[in-house]
Amino acid sequence: MTMQALVLEKTRTLSLRDIVIDERLGARDVRVRIHTVGVCGSDVHYYQHGAIGPFVVREPMVLGHEAAGVVEEVGSGVTTLKVGDRVCMEPGVPDPHGRATRLGLYNLDPAIRFWATPPVHGCLRPYVVHPEAFTFRLPDNVSFGEGAMVEPFAVGLHAASKARIKPGDVAVVLGAGPIGMLTALAALAGGCGRVFITDVKAPKLALAASLGPITPVNVLEASLAQEVSRATGGWGADVVFDAVGLPGSCAEAIGAARPGGCIVMIGMPGAPVPFDVVAAQVKELRIETIFRYAHVFPRALSLMEGRRVDLRPLITDRFAFADSIAAFDFASAMKPMSVKVQIELG
Ligand code: ZN
Repeated sequence: MTMQALVLEKTRTLSLRDIVIDERLGARDVRVRIHTVGVCGSDVHYYQHGAIGPFVVREPMVLGHEAAGVVEEVGSGVTTLKVGDRVCMEPGVPDPHGRATRLGLYNLDPAIRFWATPPVHGCLRPYVVHPEAFTFRLPDNVSFGEGAMVEPFAVGLHAASKARIKPGDVAVVLGAGPIGMLTALAALAGGCGRVFITDVKAPKLALAASLGPITPVNVLEASLAQEVSRATGGWGADVVFDAVGLPGSCAEAIGAARPGGCIVMIGMPGAPVPFDVVAAQVKELRIETIFRYAHVFPRALSLMEGRRVDLRPLITDRFAFADSIAAFDFASAMKPMSVKVQIELG
């Protein structure tokens, strides 16, 4: 099928052009007309650098992996979705027979095909064919824009699950980017009583503080360790989420955690970073790592349907599909007030 798509031709070169994509509708697949696609930091990273770690763009690749749309066609064996359903899609499809999948760790399947991770095309195009099992109906009160936020929110929910939050826990989130903010919301939904969030950009911190019992800490002006210490009687946070992934954020996470606490590594450092083993040992910290998520879209949609979580304030900038390249240039130099850029195909 020939369709117009946003194609990353090579590093720093995007074009909106026709491309042939061969996707056959299998018995357990649906064809979805794409409505809204969120621009993710990883899309922007491929645009700017042409690679993320071992994933290198060698052939022209369609970008985008945070999508919502409408079912236009269903395969003969589809039972849970029908034409006209509003849906969002989980962008990674594992090999059902793979060892990781059978262990319940399908996000770690080496053979997973994940949108806009080379060599797999993404979803910034009018149509995709996707398995029914990885396509989720949106509740009536959840917009397409919110539907396209489920994917990044899933990262925060997976991190919150790994942290094994208990009711009333105090959490710290390092970094108030989209994933940091979504993780703060996931931590509150998971039972945290209070969340501290750090950043160096005042407008982002102000927005984060408006989302719930979230205390902003501008680390240019204040010390996170002191703020957390004051709030917890010198004890520390039960859980620390590192949504920064820079040299130094690891030490900050260890420093803010209480004895016996947990730190969850979400942000991906661009190169190996130092890790102070003894500092973690003397607190017997539990260290968790995450890679994407596994089967949390239904949880995200459940929280959104009941308005336990409202992601709408995080959708700050919208572009038409025809202006996709402008959207990527905008997202490459984000304004301090901007959190999530979305592209609407309408
Ligand atoms: Zn993403």
